[in-house]
Amino acid sequence: MPQIVGKTIYVLGAGCSHHTGAPLLRDFLVKARLLMESEKELVYKESFVRIFKWIDNLRSASYYVEFDLDNLEHIFSLADMLRQIGSEEGERYFSDLRYVVMETLDRCQLRWEGQRIQPDNLYDRFVQNLRELNKQRRDKITQTQGAFERDTIITFNYDVMLDYAIRFQTTSFDYCLGAPQSPDCFKLLKLHGSTSWAICRKCTTSPQIVKASPIPEGFSVSPFLDDGQQINFKMVTDVLKNTPCSNCKEKDVLEPILIPPTWSKAIEKTPLVKVWETAVNEIMNAFQIIVIGYSMPPTDTFFQYLLTLGLASNAKLNRVVVVNKDNSEDFKGRYEKVFARSLRDRGRLRFLDNIIFANYVTQRMMDVGGKLEWVHE
Ligand SMILES: [Zn+2]
Repeated sequence: MPQIVGKTIYVLGAGCSHHTGAPLLRDFLVKARLLMESEKELVYKESFVRIFKWIDNLRSASYYVEFDLDNLEHIFSLADMLRQIGSEEGERYFSDLRYVVMETLDRCQLRWEGQRIQPDNLYDRFVQNLRELNKQRRDKITQTQGAFERDTIITFNYDVMLDYAIRFQTTSFDYCLGAPQSPDCFKLLKLHGSTSWAICRKCTTSPQIVKASPIPEGFSVSPFLDDGQQINFKMVTDVLKNTPCSNCKEKDVLEPILIPPTWSKAIEKTPLVKVWETAVNEIMNAFQIIVIGYSMPPTDTFFQYLLTLGLASNAKLNRVVVVNKDNSEDFKGRYEKVFARSLRDRGRLRFLDNIIFANYVTQRMMDVGGKLEWVHE
C-alpha cells in the first residue's frame, strides 16, 4: 500500500477535547450555569452572577425577538455590540463573559501514577501515533532523498491537555507565536488562543508562555498522593494565578489570551496574527488535511477564509479527510461548500462517518495518516 510522503495538517475541533470534560459551544452556557449553581468556590463568581442575571433579563425581552440565548456566540455578540455603542455595561459584560468562559473551561483533571502526573490517555496516544507516522515518513523520504517536514496541528481548543501530552513525551514543538524555532518541530497552532499564553494585566508586555502543567513553577506535588488519584488541572484559576509575570514579577496578574470563536476577525492587534499567518502557510504546503471533531459552523467565517487563501495556492493537496460523528447531509453540505467542487468530484473530499476522536486515534489514525488508501471504510 503506497505511503503518504507529504505533510499532513491535523485540524482539531471542540469534539477532540470533549472527552476531557471541555464543554462544546452549544452547551457551554448551560454548563456554566450549572457550575454557578453547584460550585461554591468559583474564583469569578461575581462575573457568573452578573452574566446570568443579564441573560435572564434578555430572556424576558425575547418575547419580541426570537433569539437563542443559550448560544455563547450570540451572547458575546450582544455584549460586544453594547460595548461598541459606548455602553459601560457592555464593557463589563464583555469582560465578565471572558472570565465565565475561562473558569468554565478550567475543569480538567489528570491522574497521578508511577510518580508522575499522567497525560490524558487519548491525547497521549495521538502524540505517540503522530511521532510514529512522522518517523515512518522520514525514513521513506530519506530513501528518496526528498525534503522532510513534520506534520502540523491546528486546533480551536483553548485547553492544554494536548500541550501537556506533547511535553510529557518530550516532543519538541512550536506555538509559532514569535520567531520560528528549530525547523525540526511539530507546529501546534492554537487559532483561538490558549489558557497557557498570557498577557500581564499590569505591565502588558509581550505574551508569555507559561508551562502547561497542573503544578505551577515553584510548587510541588503533595507527597501523600496514591496511584490513580485525580489531580485538578486548573490552568487559569490556579496555574496562571500563581505564576509571577516574567517582567514585573507580580502574581495574580496573568490573563490568558483567548478569543471567542466568532471574533476571529479581532486578531489584528493580538499575538495571534503570527499563528494565523503560519496556519495559512502550512495549509499552502499540505499534502493532506485531516479535520476531526469540527462542525464547520457557518459563523466561523474566518477559518473558511484561511482555508480558501491557503488552498488557492496549494498545488500538492491530495485529499481532505473529515472525521466526525455527524453524518447528516447538512453537515457534509457545509464542507462541500467550503472545499471546491474539483476536490469533491475527484473523490478527494472523504468523510469518515460516525467516528469520534477516540475511535479515530485508537483505530484509524495510523492508516489514514500514513497511507494513500486505507483498508476498511
Ligand atoms: Zn507584568
